Amino acid sequence: MNRVLKLLNQVDHILFGVKGILGVCKLVDMMIRKRDFDQYLYSALVLVVFLNHIDKTVTSSVSNVVDDEESISRFQHYLKINTAHPNPKYYEAADFIISQAKSLSLESQSIEFVQGKPLVLLKWPGKDSTLQSILLNSHTDVVPVEDTKWVHPPFDARVQNGNVYARGSQDMKCVGLQYLEAIRKLKHSGFKPLRDVYLSFVPDEEIGGHDGAAKFANSEVFDKMNVGIVLDEGLPSINDKYRVFYAERSPWWLLIKSTGAPGHGAKLYDNTALENLFKSIESIRRFRGAQFDLVKAGLMAEGEVVSVNMVALKAGTPSPTGFVMNLQPSEAEAAFDIRVPPTADQASLERRIAEEWAPTSRNMTFELGQFKQKVSAYDKFGQPVLTATDESNHWWSLLEGAITEANGKLENPEIFPASTDARYFRDRGLPAIGFSPMANTPILLHDHNEFLNKDEYLRGIEIYESIIKAYASFDDTKDSSKDEL
Ligand SMILES: [Zn+2]
Repeated sequence: MNRVLKLLNQVDHILFGVKGILGVCKLVDMMIRKRDFDQYLYSALVLVVFLNHIDKTVTSSVSNVVDDEESISRFQHYLKINTAHPNPKYYEAADFIISQAKSLSLESQSIEFVQGKPLVLLKWPGKDSTLQSILLNSHTDVVPVEDTKWVHPPFDARVQNGNVYARGSQDMKCVGLQYLEAIRKLKHSGFKPLRDVYLSFVPDEEIGGHDGAAKFANSEVFDKMNVGIVLDEGLPSINDKYRVFYAERSPWWLLIKSTGAPGHGAKLYDNTALENLFKSIESIRRFRGAQFDLVKAGLMAEGEVVSVNMVALKAGTPSPTGFVMNLQPSEAEAAFDIRVPPTADQASLERRIAEEWAPTSRNMTFELGQFKQKVSAYDKFGQPVLTATDESNHWWSLLEGAITEANGKLENPEIFPASTDARYFRDRGLPAIGFSPMANTPILLHDHNEFLNKDEYLRGIEIYESIIKAYASFDDTKDSSKDEL
């Protein structure tokens, strides 16, 4: 179908060109018959300019049409591979990525840190491999869908009103392929990187990344790559400014338990398990309210506060019809999803949990990370896990400059409210920037009817073209020799 359209487009241009040429010939013929030599010269000039113009119009518009349509169809192809948990088709995705790499003459390898979970690593070698490399990371898996709630089947990648509907269109198959499309354009333009550029397509981000990015970031393969900067996923913005993330909150999954003397349901007495638990819940709710007020008042961004949400409550003595109603239970527990920004005072939060939310004086205990280990907000060097967003970090300055250069606008940098694989790279002390170039787009990650507009996708490719060019050609050897002097 695409080929037919392209052919029609070309025929259209050619017909337009032929019509134009005939028109000018007629004019020239008329002038010669009138023996008006000046007019003859003038017409000849018009003809040359016209032909030149036609030639450029036909070439450029045809090649743009070809590129854009093919880019979108490659995006659709990737989206159609069902990589949703719990049974992601990782091998199919890996085969597709490797076939793309081959078409771009990139080096490729598939690594299985865990069997059945391939990680595809691509390399575009630079002129000077001793320089620190660039890593463009994306995950291949997507979250599950409730397909009956979608307007189009979530793995058909159908286009309606220019929007490509599919699970993964925002999170984050778009970014993975935009990297590749940007490299395709750079290669076409004859650009040659100074630094090595790597692309990693990792599995399992949506289930914690333990068998994907975590193993990769701590591997020998990764050590050898000598990475200087990592780009990873961000979030869409509903206005025309791109959002960018320099850190993320750590999940602290807290379970508090209380115990108390059991008793008759009719008796009033102190220190029941549920009374003890409710005092904690009230205290946690007050804290939550105060943090939320800062966001509502516009004083803090969502990612800058500590969020606390109750996700489970367990108490009661079961009976065949429900619960025993005349018995106060001796145990109760509640679970909370807490997200802690690296800028928060973690020691004081831990004290608060121990002293206010689960004090032994109220017969309470707590576990942090019963479901998943508590992730520290400090890297292995004891520094807060965040990437500098000022001139002290040349990768930041280059990114800002490259986006401006491509006529994009940037929002103030933010802390990502949830978790991404970027934390595993930051944990190694590396700068990592979360960025998905999606402006004017509703936030539909993990939602029904996730989509990305075609033009927005294509625009994102131009943005990456500019960033990759700036990063891959960045030469800091002169600066460091200055330092040595
Ligand atoms: Zn994601």
